[in-house]
Amino acid sequence: MSLDPVRSLYIHVPFCAHKCEYCAFYSAPPGGDQVQRYVQALVRELELIAPDCRPETIFFGGGTPSLLTLAQWETVLNAMHRLGVTGAAEWTVECNPATVSADKARLLRDAGVNRISMGVQSFDDAMLERLGRIHSRDQVYRSHETLRAAGFDNLNIDLMFAIPGQTLDIWRTTIAEAVKLGTTHLSCYEVIYEDDTPLYEQLKAGQFAVDENLACSMYDELVDRLAEAGFRQYEIANFARDEEGRTPGAIPSHACRHNVGYWRGRDSYGLGPSASEYVRGLRARNWANTTLYCEQLERGRRAKEFAEALPPRARAGELAAFGLRMNAGWPFAEFRERTGFDLREQWQDELHQLTARGWGEDTGQAFRLTRQGLRFADSAAALMLRTDEAPAHTCP
Ligand code: SF4
Repeated sequence: MSLDPVRSLYIHVPFCAHKCEYCAFYSAPPGGDQVQRYVQALVRELELIAPDCRPETIFFGGGTPSLLTLAQWETVLNAMHRLGVTGAAEWTVECNPATVSADKARLLRDAGVNRISMGVQSFDDAMLERLGRIHSRDQVYRSHETLRAAGFDNLNIDLMFAIPGQTLDIWRTTIAEAVKLGTTHLSCYEVIYEDDTPLYEQLKAGQFAVDENLACSMYDELVDRLAEAGFRQYEIANFARDEEGRTPGAIPSHACRHNVGYWRGRDSYGLGPSASEYVRGLRARNWANTTLYCEQLERGRRAKEFAEALPPRARAGELAAFGLRMNAGWPFAEFRERTGFDLREQWQDELHQLTARGWGEDTGQAFRLTRQGLRFADSAAALMLRTDEAPAHTCP
């Protein structure tokens, strides 16, 4: 019996020129010949999964993928072409405004990359410095022009709010500048204080306090201003432009299809150090250690830290949680088709709780979070998980 190939591919590039104050992603400044070694290991990993992967969406994230040199990108792209792992309808590469060049942008565009996600975070130089970003506000504008000139018209920018020291006025100005730039997509995240980050240590040391009310006002401001500017929110943190005449409630045409696939539980390969994947019922993660990753691939095997088969109800609970992040929520029929479970039956108590709190609503066809519920989506999602069901097995 032949299986359908996996249609989604994520590749993690674990290098950043400098670590931002808030960042808990796996990434580090590159040393010695590490990037070169990583590129060779990644090519090897691509060779291992290529027979089972015909991606409709590809996402290079990090870390800072745009930190790879022209020659390193050529090596990766040539391998992808040779292996037939290209031609995705949506192919995104994350870029830092400080590391975009005209040559690199053209190379990516010619290879089939058609979407760029730029980590901007703020249009205020003081905020950028507070976050430890390596780029300036001016560099955002220059990189944006470079990307446009290379032919990219599907562009996302990432923004952050509730940055220590950020006022509502500063945030309003950032939103207005982002809108004016004319990108098709905006991803906007509240600062999260992750263990082992400098920002968390500063918070613990009492150097500043978190103002929850201000963060709520900033989120409200964001949702209202972007709606006025013609963006459609389709997930807690994601807003996209839409073509005219589309069905109300449908996912907007410029939504990130790769991420929508993730929230809807689509199988996806994850390559590179620390990358996670979900393929045919098996969830796995690569070691978050670039040296170990390279060593394993040099021996001809994938560098998985673990692989586990989730019991169907646990996986369905996870998907119930992911899907509620989206404004459309979960259409009941689609949830049943994806998971084999009836959302209204199996999560009856939880749906009642969410409705009673004013966080959720049953539209007849779907269950979705209200505007208030979206603000507390992490708590709502936690209700849906079935953590009492342990993975069926784990293996190295
Ligand atoms: S550029 Fe992104 S991945 Fe790199 S340290 Fe900053 S936030 Fe983390």
